[in-house]
Amino acid sequence: MSAQLYVVATPIGHLDDITYRAINILKSVSLIAAEDTRQSAPLLKHYNIATPLTACHDHNEESKIKSIIEKLQSGEDVALISDAGTPLISDPGFKLVRAAQQAGIRVSPIPGACAAIAALSCVGLPSDRFTFIGFLPSKATQRQNQLQQLKNKPETHIFYEAPHRIVDCLKDLVEIFGADRAIGFAREITKTFETIVQKPAAELLTFVEQDHHQQKGEIVLVVAGNNQPQNHEQQQTDQLLKRLLQDLSVKSASQLAADLTGMKKKELYQRALELQDQ
Ligand code: SAM
Repeated sequence: MSAQLYVVATPIGHLDDITYRAINILKSVSLIAAEDTRQSAPLLKHYNIATPLTACHDHNEESKIKSIIEKLQSGEDVALISDAGTPLISDPGFKLVRAAQQAGIRVSPIPGACAAIAALSCVGLPSDRFTFIGFLPSKATQRQNQLQQLKNKPETHIFYEAPHRIVDCLKDLVEIFGADRAIGFAREITKTFETIVQKPAAELLTFVEQDHHQQKGEIVLVVAGNNQPQNHEQQQTDQLLKRLLQDLSVKSASQLAADLTGMKKKELYQRALELQDQ
């Protein structure tokens, strides 16, 4: 059988959270491509894995790909790991996987821990439909713009957030998503000081602000979707009509609103009449 690239999930905290198969694969391959060889060394030592390591991260992935693909093409198996959890999930590896696929090399997942899924599985928010956002932009304006785009979506959202930005991020969530939006907070999953809570946004902000321990470590935020999207749409339509009514007749305002939104003119006309009387 020809060589394979294995994409191997490693623990996100507790060292026991790795599969038997992952350990066997890591022992049997010719080379482990690791995001940071120093980070992975304790795990490999713990499981007596003596396979040679090479660093493969965002800054050298392009140049490393060629030699790794050559190794695979010469018939030697390679495993890809990241510092923690599943490679490629807010971690490097995409370019290597794509290059291997394009070279006709079989890429096999060795599934395991992923902080996003671990958090989603235990914060008690709807898990039937969700969007994984990963890290929000670090600049406040960009973060706020992205949150504005997400605030009316009905599905659950999963964010990774750095501890030094958690308070600012929660403040933006309260401001943009509203004080009552339910948020799951999963910190230090599988580690000694694991914290899993779910609270309305404003209460969660207070909880995190008042306990500086909650502003440390690794954090996943799971944010409930907007379950009142129609109300919000209605609010936006009302806002538009109110503004147009400041300068236009009911007829012209509803016609222009219909042109802009694609909504039915008759409905907008009725609503404009109601708003005018308020
Ligand atoms: N590939 C990883 C995975 O599968 O989850 C994610 C890597 S990403 C660079 C690191 C981020 O994942 C952290 O900043 C944090 O948001 C989240 N994370 C990783 N481990 C975690 C843990 N034990 N508890 C909570 N969040 C964690």
